[in-house]
Formats: sequence, structure tokens, C-alpha cells
Amino acid sequence: MTCPFCGGEMEVGFVQSNGSALIWTNKKHCFSVLADSSKGEIQLDHVFNSASITAEICRKCKKIIADY
Ligand SMILES: [Zn+2]
Repeated sequence: MTCPFCGGEMEVGFVQSNGSALIWTNKKHCFSVLADSSKGEIQLDHVFNSASITAEICRKCKKIIADY
């Protein structure tokens, strides 16, 4: 994907959280987190022992773009 801010090529990776940290990584880590729907949270993804969404970053602009 082309960065809509600078026109450079973005890197494909994953935004992941374990409940205490939120990271972008190009390689999925193994941990899990569940959304609490009673608080309006949305479960974006939950695969066995991991929680992540695909997200692309532009390191130059420090932007992350993700679909949900
Ligand atoms: Zn950019």
C-alpha cells in the first residue's frame, strides 16, 4: 500500500495487544486479549493464543493504517 501522506511504500505487519502493551510488529507474537462487549469494546481478532489485526505502517510519517 502507498502511504497517503508521503506516497512512500508502507510495511505490512500487525497491531497486537496483551492488555498492558500495544505494539506494531512484522511477526505475530503469541499472547491473547479479549474485548469486553459490555464496555463497548470490539473484538477485532482472536486466534488461538494471539490477538492482532493486520496494519500497515509508514516509518517516515509515523502513521499506522488498519481496517477493522
Ligand atoms: Zn508516509
